[in-house]
Amino acid sequence: MSELNAPAGTPFFHYDNSQLMAESVSIAELAERYGTPLYVYSRAALKAAWESYAQPLTNRNALVCFGMKANSNLAVLQQFAQWGSGFDIVSGGELARALKAGAQADTIVFSGVGKQDWEIKAALQAGVKCFNVESTDELERISSIASQLGCVAPVSLRVNPDVDAKTHPYISTGLKDNKFGIAIEIAAQVYQRAAVLPGIRIVGVDCHIGSQITQIEPYLDALERLLNLLDTLAGIDIALEHLDIGGGLGIRYQDETPIAPAMLLDEVFAMLQARGYGHLQLIMEPGRSLVGNAGILVTRVQYLKHHQSKNFAIVDAAMNDLLRPTLYDAWHGVLPAVSRSGHSSEAQPRVYDIVGPICESGDWLARDRELQLSQNDLLVIESAGAYGFVMSCQYNSRPRCAEVMVDGDQSYLIRPRETVEELFASEQMLPG
Ligand SMILES: *Cc1c(COP(=O)(O)O)cnc(C)c1O
Repeated sequence: MSELNAPAGTPFFHYDNSQLMAESVSIAELAERYGTPLYVYSRAALKAAWESYAQPLTNRNALVCFGMKANSNLAVLQQFAQWGSGFDIVSGGELARALKAGAQADTIVFSGVGKQDWEIKAALQAGVKCFNVESTDELERISSIASQLGCVAPVSLRVNPDVDAKTHPYISTGLKDNKFGIAIEIAAQVYQRAAVLPGIRIVGVDCHIGSQITQIEPYLDALERLLNLLDTLAGIDIALEHLDIGGGLGIRYQDETPIAPAMLLDEVFAMLQARGYGHLQLIMEPGRSLVGNAGILVTRVQYLKHHQSKNFAIVDAAMNDLLRPTLYDAWHGVLPAVSRSGHSSEAQPRVYDIVGPICESGDWLARDRELQLSQNDLLVIESAGAYGFVMSCQYNSRPRCAEVMVDGDQSYLIRPRETVEELFASEQMLPG
């Protein structure tokens, strides 16, 4: 039975007698107070994840830029900003969010393959630390916009090192046939072009090879290739200030063994030192590993259907609330908010598919889970803090759900549940 396993995100999510708790607050109490479906985050879990990077970087010339597309709630960003995090952004909207949450502009790096004029302009006006440039077209565009504004854009080239991160094809980004980055073979040429553009100041190099990576080797392979590139650049008098190895560290969803940041960082610093690049500032862009196991999705069983060969638990959360199973075939743990020992009913253990109410067969959250369920039971979908709420939408005209942050024995509503009226409040009907 899954309830015998320690919850992902232990000790911040744990059973106290039969009650599943977020820190010192029971999930049942949160569901009662805020309704379901509901995202719940643990502030202490966020802090612990932050410390797993901050501690090995103490007294190092380094900057952690939270890959905020993983979870961009203002309260989450605010915590990271207060702890000294920078931010890796991928849009003008994320820039505005980060600044609103208290980020220092000079700790923001701007990634993404499709930066638009208005986004480039906004980032220049804010004074971001650098643009992670993904193509020569983009480089030219940034230079011309910067020149128009009478400023110079700090840039780093996002190089595609052509290494296999050995992760899901949809979240692998460092192979030469995907859309990200500048092929490493032509990177030196693009740097030479950057060096003569009037609106550009070269400051760094970066790569981001994928997501949910559980092995160190792909990082070291990528780093090796970047350092070879830096050798070439040194030969043509192009020197850099920083080297950014991206994000992508995996978390435990099921039985993965994630990389400890300290282990990776030890190897990275050793390699930088050995190759004569110990003076460079090291940047990392972790997203998932800072938030993934700091959040859960709480949902309530609406109906149970027992077919001949299949049992369904239809819950009030759906693919519009948590898209990862539908999009990536992702596995998330499912736990009862009140374990059987604390339950009066005598439901049979059965193997269930946990599905939502949306009119799509792809609307499922978990498959083939043995659970003892009764109508109205509360379930927790684990490891939902990254790429959870941020991917939610209103498909089937379902209001987006609420988000709550637990801190010790306190809980804070950090985003209220949308109302049905809000769904179409800004829409306009035709005249007549
Ligand atoms: C998504 C993304 C990240 C964060 O990735 P995680 O796998 O969540 O750590 C970092 N950098 C870039 C450029 C990204 O696109």
